[in-house]
Amino acid sequence: MSIHSTTFTLQTAGFTDIHDITGRASRFVSSSGVQNGILTVFVPGSTAGITTIEYEDGALEDLKNAIERLAPKGIHYAHDARWGDGNGFAHVRAAILGPSLAVPIIRSRLGLGTWQQIILIDFDNRPRERTIILQAIGE
Ligand code: ZN
Repeated sequence: MSIHSTTFTLQTAGFTDIHDITGRASRFVSSSGVQNGILTVFVPGSTAGITTIEYEDGALEDLKNAIERLAPKGIHYAHDARWGDGNGFAHVRAAILGPSLAVPIIRSRLGLGTWQQIILIDFDNRPRERTIILQAIGE
């Protein structure tokens, strides 16, 4: 068994900014040499999340609208009253979505569906530079 880790960075705009990171993840798996195992994708930070979606404009807009209904921007957040950084909605959205994803590696490829892409969503209320951790474990 072997363990391979890497990181890469992304410039994001905040406010539910969505980035397709599938290419980075699958290139890393190819270069790792892991043929069967698991890839973990993780974003450090409490205002961003990782999930999968069919990466097309309609589905992305639907997801953004659903997130806005779940944790709207213009309501009271106790975090904002305590810290004054105005991103209480971003913390709640990130907690609901979660910061990581596990994808099976099967015969050197990610076990994703044809229309299933890996996305990073930045919920913060300002542009950020995000670091994403990729770790492949297997043989
Ligand atoms: Zn905050």
